[in-house]
Amino acid sequence: MNRLHNKIAIITGAASGQGAAEARRFVEEGAKVVITDLNEVDGKALADQLGDSAIFVSHDVSDEASWQRVVEQCLAAFGGIDILVNNAGIYRQKSLAETDQALMDLHYRVNVLGAFFGMKAVHPVMKAHDGGAIVNISSIAALRGSPGLFAYAGSKWMVRGMTKSAAQDLAQDKIRVNTVLPGLIDTPMLAGNAPEYLEEIKQMVPFKRLGAPEEIADAVVYLASDESRYVTGAEITVCGGMSA
Ligand code: NAP
Repeated sequence: MNRLHNKIAIITGAASGQGAAEARRFVEEGAKVVITDLNEVDGKALADQLGDSAIFVSHDVSDEASWQRVVEQCLAAFGGIDILVNNAGIYRQKSLAETDQALMDLHYRVNVLGAFFGMKAVHPVMKAHDGGAIVNISSIAALRGSPGLFAYAGSKWMVRGMTKSAAQDLAQDKIRVNTVLPGLIDTPMLAGNAPEYLEEIKQMVPFKRLGAPEEIADAVVYLASDESRYVTGAEITVCGGMSA
């Protein structure tokens, strides 16, 4: 249980769902973690549970200025940044006809600019400390057309594209940048779906069940750890076979 021994990580959107599972797994594996989120109540409660290995920083990923605060607080608490997980995201089910500019802007600001600002903010620190690992969370909705998810799927395609370009740009600074593409994962993000709809989509998964947040955390630990030291620009789908 020491795969992230001595590593210092920032995980965005970590008050809930997959980000919270990642924060727990990272601490189990020996990391120090900065949990960031808009949700202060759950974020602080999780940091308290994790004790000296975690702090919570209130953070809107779409606000570039607030990233400087996150970086400063991470350096002040733990003295470095080895890992960034750009996990925070929003999801609205709307078709092209139902999507307006405000919904496009919202997905762009949180899912796209949020990951971009994060990579920009940690880059100089990682570069000065001999490298690091960035894991961006996309979605299997970004592997092909996704009906009724126009803005969301478009934003997650951008995450894939940014990750591959960043992997090329940051390789010289020993910073690896990879993507995890979750399938249908049992988190509050899916809670807005009707139970009948969830049952219907479960039947489309070869494993006939939703994924657990911990199953995404396992893939993120691999990409964040030195076990993946020769892996950059890669994509791991964790989806019970849905993208096969
Ligand atoms: P979740 O439980 O809703 O967690 C997302 C977290 O991000 C929430 O705590 C949310 O806070 C926070 N957040 C939203 N906007 C933010 C912002 N501007 N700044 C900082 N934090 C913000 O969902 P999840 O399933 O764990 O999602 C994690 C990632 O996986 C997302 O990128 C999502 O798109 C991706 N994903 C999820 C699934 C799935 O089936 N669940 C599938 C594929 C990909 P609030 O609760 O306050 O909004």
